[in-house]
Amino acid sequence: MRFDLITIFPEFFAGPFDHGILRRARETGLVEVNVQDLRVFTKDRHRTVDDRPFGGGEGMVLKPEPLFEAVESLLGQSVGDAASQTSLDPKTAIVLMSAAGKLFNQETARRYAQFERIIFICGRYEGVDERVAKYLATGEISIGNYVLSGGELPAMLVIDALTRLIPGALGNEASSQNESFSASASSPATFPQVGAEGVGVRGPKEFAAPVTNHVLLDFPHYTRPAEYRGWAVPEVLIGGNHAEVAKWRRAAAMEKTQRNRPDLL
Ligand code: SAH
Repeated sequence: MRFDLITIFPEFFAGPFDHGILRRARETGLVEVNVQDLRVFTKDRHRTVDDRPFGGGEGMVLKPEPLFEAVESLLGQSVGDAASQTSLDPKTAIVLMSAAGKLFNQETARRYAQFERIIFICGRYEGVDERVAKYLATGEISIGNYVLSGGELPAMLVIDALTRLIPGALGNEASSQNESFSASASSPATFPQVGAEGVGVRGPKEFAAPVTNHVLLDFPHYTRPAEYRGWAVPEVLIGGNHAEVAKWRRAAAMEKTQRNRPDLL
Protein backbone atom coordinates (compact mmCIF):
# COMPACT_ATOMS: atom_id res chain seq x y z
CA MET A 1 0.00 0.00 0.00
CA ARG A 2 1.30 3.43 -0.84
CA PHE A 3 0.66 6.57 1.20
CA ASP A 4 1.41 10.04 -0.15
CA LEU A 5 1.29 13.02 2.17
CA ILE A 6 0.90 16.50 0.75
CA THR A 7 2.06 19.07 3.28
CA ILE A 8 3.73 22.43 3.72
CA PHE A 9 5.82 20.86 6.51
CA PRO A 10 7.51 17.80 4.99
CA GLU A 11 10.01 17.59 7.84
CA PHE A 12 7.09 16.98 10.20
CA PHE A 13 7.11 13.32 9.18
CA ALA A 14 10.70 12.53 10.09
CA GLY A 15 10.41 10.06 12.92
CA PRO A 16 6.87 8.74 13.32
CA PHE A 17 7.18 6.18 10.54
CA ASP A 18 10.55 4.91 11.77
CA HIS A 19 9.37 2.82 14.70
CA GLY A 20 7.62 -0.43 15.45
CA ILE A 21 4.96 -1.81 13.15
CA LEU A 22 5.17 1.08 10.67
CA ARG A 23 8.91 0.77 10.36
CA ARG A 24 8.69 -2.99 9.81
CA ALA A 25 5.89 -2.58 7.27
CA ARG A 26 8.02 -0.12 5.32
CA GLU A 27 11.13 -2.28 5.53
CA THR A 28 9.31 -5.36 4.28
CA GLY A 29 7.71 -3.37 1.46
CA LEU A 30 4.12 -3.76 2.68
CA VAL A 31 3.87 -0.01 2.93
CA GLU A 32 5.52 2.86 1.12
CA VAL A 33 5.34 6.40 2.49
CA ASN A 34 6.06 9.37 0.28
CA VAL A 35 6.05 12.94 1.57
CA GLN A 36 5.31 15.66 -0.95
CA ASP A 37 6.22 19.29 -0.24
CA LEU A 38 3.26 21.40 -1.40
CA ARG A 39 5.45 24.43 -2.09
CA VAL A 40 7.08 22.64 -5.02
CA PHE A 41 3.82 23.35 -6.85
CA THR A 42 3.85 27.11 -6.35
CA LYS A 43 4.94 29.39 -9.15
CA ASP A 44 5.74 32.69 -7.46
CA ARG A 45 8.95 33.87 -5.83
CA HIS A 46 7.47 33.61 -2.33
CA ARG A 47 6.17 30.08 -2.91
CA THR A 48 2.72 31.15 -1.78
CA VAL A 49 0.32 28.36 -0.80
CA ASP A 50 -2.35 30.43 0.94
CA ASP A 51 -4.49 33.51 0.43
CA ARG A 52 -7.11 35.59 2.21
CA PRO A 53 -10.66 34.24 2.41
CA PHE A 54 -13.33 35.53 0.06
CA GLY A 55 -16.09 37.15 2.09
CA GLY A 56 -13.68 38.31 4.76
CA GLY A 57 -12.84 36.93 8.17
CA GLU A 58 -9.69 35.84 9.93
CA GLY A 59 -7.02 33.47 8.84
CA MET A 60 -5.63 32.27 5.58
CA VAL A 61 -6.90 29.55 3.29
CA LEU A 62 -4.82 27.03 1.32
CA LYS A 63 -5.19 27.82 -2.37
CA PRO A 64 -6.58 25.20 -4.74
CA GLU A 65 -3.98 25.38 -7.55
CA PRO A 66 -0.93 23.93 -5.76
CA LEU A 67 -3.07 21.18 -4.18
CA PHE A 68 -4.68 20.12 -7.48
CA GLU A 69 -1.31 20.18 -9.20
CA ALA A 70 0.40 18.24 -6.43
CA VAL A 71 -2.22 15.49 -6.61
CA GLU A 72 -2.10 15.40 -10.41
CA SER A 73 1.65 15.18 -10.38
CA LEU A 74 1.52 12.26 -7.93
CA LEU A 75 -1.17 10.51 -9.97
CA GLY A 76 0.46 11.24 -13.30
CA GLN A 77 -2.93 12.26 -14.65
CA SER A 78 -5.28 15.22 -14.72
CA VAL A 79 -8.41 15.25 -12.57
CA GLY A 80 -10.12 17.55 -15.05
CA ASP A 81 -12.16 20.68 -14.49
CA ALA A 82 -15.82 21.70 -14.26
CA ALA A 83 -16.36 20.85 -17.93
CA SER A 84 -14.44 17.59 -18.09
CA GLN A 85 -13.76 15.28 -15.22
CA THR A 86 -11.44 12.39 -15.77
CA SER A 87 -11.87 9.17 -13.87
CA LEU A 88 -9.66 7.99 -11.08
CA ASP A 89 -8.31 4.50 -10.46
CA PRO A 90 -10.87 2.96 -8.04
CA LYS A 91 -8.01 1.57 -5.93
CA THR A 92 -6.77 5.11 -5.21
CA ALA A 93 -8.26 7.45 -2.61
CA ILE A 94 -7.57 11.15 -2.17
CA VAL A 95 -8.30 12.13 1.41
CA LEU A 96 -8.58 15.63 2.77
CA MET A 97 -7.86 15.83 6.49
CA SER A 98 -10.48 18.17 7.91
CA ALA A 99 -12.09 18.97 11.26
CA ALA A 100 -15.31 19.25 9.27
CA GLY A 101 -14.89 15.80 7.71
CA LYS A 102 -16.59 12.48 8.42
CA LEU A 103 -15.54 11.00 11.72
CA PHE A 104 -12.80 8.39 11.41
CA ASN A 105 -13.29 5.11 13.25
CA GLN A 106 -12.20 1.48 13.03
CA GLU A 107 -14.81 0.75 10.38
CA THR A 108 -13.49 3.60 8.23
CA ALA A 109 -10.01 2.23 8.81
CA ARG A 110 -11.04 -1.21 7.55
CA ARG A 111 -12.63 0.34 4.48
CA TYR A 112 -9.62 2.49 3.61
CA ALA A 113 -7.22 -0.40 4.23
CA GLN A 114 -8.64 -1.96 1.04
CA PHE A 115 -7.16 0.77 -1.16
CA GLU A 116 -3.81 0.36 -2.88
CA ARG A 117 -2.92 3.99 -2.66
CA ILE A 118 -4.06 6.90 -0.52
CA ILE A 119 -3.05 10.50 -1.04
CA PHE A 120 -3.51 12.60 2.10
CA ILE A 121 -3.95 16.35 1.87
CA CYS A 122 -2.88 18.04 5.10
CA GLY A 123 -4.59 21.36 5.69
CA ARG A 124 -3.18 24.30 7.67
CA TYR A 125 -4.25 27.78 8.79
CA GLU A 126 -8.01 28.33 8.54
CA GLY A 127 -8.37 25.36 6.23
CA VAL A 128 -8.47 24.51 2.55
CA ASP A 129 -10.37 26.01 -0.40
CA GLU A 130 -13.64 24.06 -0.51
CA ARG A 131 -13.15 23.09 -4.16
CA VAL A 132 -10.49 20.67 -2.95
CA ALA A 133 -13.06 18.87 -0.80
CA LYS A 134 -15.67 18.99 -3.55
CA TYR A 135 -13.77 18.23 -6.74
CA LEU A 136 -10.39 16.77 -5.81
CA ALA A 137 -10.74 14.69 -2.66
CA THR A 138 -12.64 11.40 -2.75
CA GLY A 139 -13.13 11.65 1.02
CA GLU A 140 -12.91 14.15 3.87
CA ILE A 141 -11.87 12.74 7.23
CA SER A 142 -11.90 14.13 10.75
CA ILE A 143 -10.11 12.22 13.49
CA GLY A 144 -12.25 13.64 16.28
CA ASN A 145 -14.44 16.44 17.52
CA TYR A 146 -11.66 18.92 18.18
CA VAL A 147 -9.62 21.32 16.07
CA LEU A 148 -5.89 20.81 15.56
CA SER A 149 -3.52 23.21 13.85
CA GLY A 150 -2.76 20.99 10.87
CA GLY A 151 -3.65 17.80 9.03
CA GLU A 152 -0.23 16.21 9.51
CA LEU A 153 -0.88 14.55 12.88
CA PRO A 154 -4.34 13.37 11.78
CA ALA A 155 -2.89 11.85 8.59
CA MET A 156 -0.20 10.03 10.57
CA LEU A 157 -2.82 8.68 12.90
CA VAL A 158 -4.89 7.35 9.99
CA ILE A 159 -1.82 5.78 8.37
CA ASP A 160 -0.96 4.05 11.63
CA ALA A 161 -4.48 2.64 12.02
CA LEU A 162 -4.57 1.44 8.39
CA THR A 163 -1.12 -0.10 8.38
CA ARG A 164 -1.89 -2.43 11.26
CA LEU A 165 -4.84 -3.78 9.26
CA ILE A 166 -2.72 -4.74 6.25
CA PRO A 167 -2.23 -8.51 6.24
CA GLY A 168 1.30 -9.28 7.41
CA ALA A 169 1.92 -5.93 9.13
CA LEU A 170 1.37 -7.29 12.63
CA GLY A 171 3.42 -10.14 14.01
CA ASN A 172 0.31 -12.23 14.36
CA GLU A 173 -2.87 -11.88 12.31
CA ALA A 174 -5.04 -12.65 15.34
CA SER A 175 -3.96 -9.44 17.01
CA SER A 176 -5.90 -7.12 14.73
CA GLN A 177 -8.98 -9.33 14.90
CA ASN A 178 -9.43 -9.48 18.65
CA GLU A 179 -8.92 -5.82 19.39
CA SER A 180 -11.17 -3.01 20.54
CA PHE A 181 -13.80 -2.15 17.90
CA SER A 182 -13.05 -5.30 15.90
CA ALA A 183 -16.01 -7.07 14.33
CA SER A 184 -15.01 -10.36 15.90
CA ALA A 185 -15.49 -8.82 19.33
CA SER A 186 -19.17 -8.74 18.44
CA SER A 187 -19.79 -11.70 16.15
CA PRO A 188 -18.77 -15.35 16.62
CA ALA A 189 -15.58 -14.30 18.32
CA THR A 190 -12.48 -16.30 18.91
CA PHE A 191 -10.03 -15.72 21.68
CA PRO A 192 -6.40 -16.70 21.72
CA GLN A 193 -5.11 -19.67 23.62
CA VAL A 194 -3.68 -19.08 27.04
CA GLY A 195 -0.21 -20.35 27.84
CA ALA A 196 0.62 -22.71 30.66
CA GLU A 197 1.78 -19.91 32.96
CA GLY A 198 -1.37 -17.91 32.51
CA VAL A 199 0.28 -15.44 30.17
CA GLY A 200 -1.70 -14.89 26.99
CA VAL A 201 -0.11 -16.68 24.08
CA ARG A 202 -1.61 -15.92 20.70
CA GLY A 203 -1.45 -19.52 19.64
CA PRO A 204 -3.08 -21.25 16.70
CA LYS A 205 -5.82 -22.85 18.76
CA GLU A 206 -8.74 -20.55 19.43
CA PHE A 207 -11.90 -20.75 21.48
CA ALA A 208 -15.37 -19.67 20.57
CA ALA A 209 -16.89 -16.91 22.69
CA PRO A 210 -20.56 -16.02 23.18
CA VAL A 211 -22.22 -13.85 20.55
CA THR A 212 -23.65 -10.37 21.14
CA ASN A 213 -24.71 -7.61 18.78
CA HIS A 214 -22.21 -5.10 20.11
CA VAL A 215 -18.78 -3.98 19.11
CA LEU A 216 -16.85 -4.20 22.34
CA LEU A 217 -13.60 -2.76 23.58
CA ASP A 218 -10.68 -5.13 23.98
CA PHE A 219 -10.57 -7.26 27.12
CA PRO A 220 -7.98 -6.30 29.77
CA HIS A 221 -4.54 -7.84 29.37
CA TYR A 222 -2.14 -8.95 32.10
CA THR A 223 1.40 -10.21 32.06
CA ARG A 224 3.97 -11.19 34.69
CA PRO A 225 4.45 -10.71 37.57
CA ALA A 226 1.29 -12.47 38.74
CA GLU A 227 1.32 -10.20 41.77
CA TYR A 228 2.62 -6.63 41.76
CA ARG A 229 2.56 -4.42 44.85
CA GLY A 230 -0.10 -6.68 46.27
CA TRP A 231 -2.34 -6.42 43.16
CA ALA A 232 -2.93 -9.88 41.79
CA VAL A 233 -3.78 -10.91 38.25
CA PRO A 234 -7.31 -12.39 38.07
CA GLU A 235 -7.07 -15.97 39.27
CA VAL A 236 -8.90 -17.42 36.27
CA LEU A 237 -6.17 -16.26 33.86
CA ILE A 238 -3.55 -18.24 35.73
CA GLY A 239 -5.60 -21.43 36.02
CA GLY A 240 -5.13 -22.60 32.42
CA ASN A 241 -8.82 -23.40 31.86
CA HIS A 242 -9.27 -22.06 28.34
CA ALA A 243 -13.06 -22.04 28.37
CA GLU A 244 -13.08 -20.15 31.67
CA VAL A 245 -10.52 -17.68 30.37
CA ALA A 246 -12.64 -17.01 27.26
CA LYS A 247 -15.70 -16.49 29.47
CA TRP A 248 -13.85 -14.12 31.78
CA ARG A 249 -12.45 -12.09 28.88
CA ARG A 250 -15.87 -11.75 27.35
CA ALA A 251 -17.36 -10.50 30.61
CA ALA A 252 -14.40 -8.22 31.32
CA ALA A 253 -14.62 -6.67 27.83
CA MET A 254 -18.32 -6.07 28.39
CA GLU A 255 -17.70 -4.52 31.82
CA LYS A 256 -14.96 -2.25 30.47
CA THR A 257 -17.10 -1.15 27.55
CA GLN A 258 -19.94 -0.38 29.95
CA ARG A 259 -17.61 1.68 32.14
CA ASN A 260 -15.60 3.57 29.48
CA ARG A 261 -17.79 3.58 26.39
CA PRO A 262 -21.45 2.96 27.24
CA ASP A 263 -22.31 4.64 23.92
CA LEU A 264 -21.09 1.51 22.12
CA LEU A 265 -23.62 -0.73 23.83
N1 SAH B 1 -11.28 26.27 10.30
C1 SAH B 1 -11.29 24.84 10.36
C2 SAH B 1 -10.09 24.30 11.13
C3 SAH B 1 -8.80 24.47 10.44
S1 SAH B 1 -7.51 23.69 11.30
C4 SAH B 1 -12.58 24.39 11.04
O1 SAH B 1 -13.07 25.11 11.91
O2 SAH B 1 -13.07 23.30 10.73
C5 SAH B 1 -6.28 23.49 10.05
C6 SAH B 1 -6.17 22.11 9.43
O3 SAH B 1 -5.91 21.16 10.43
C7 SAH B 1 -7.42 21.62 8.72
O4 SAH B 1 -7.48 22.11 7.40
C8 SAH B 1 -7.21 20.12 8.75
O5 SAH B 1 -6.40 19.67 7.70
C9 SAH B 1 -6.47 19.92 10.06
N2 SAH B 1 -7.36 19.46 11.16
C10 SAH B 1 -7.71 20.16 12.25
N3 SAH B 1 -8.51 19.45 13.05
C11 SAH B 1 -8.66 18.25 12.47
C12 SAH B 1 -9.39 17.07 12.80
N4 SAH B 1 -10.12 16.98 13.91
N5 SAH B 1 -9.32 16.01 11.95
C13 SAH B 1 -8.60 16.09 10.82
N6 SAH B 1 -7.89 17.18 10.44
C14 SAH B 1 -7.92 18.25 11.25
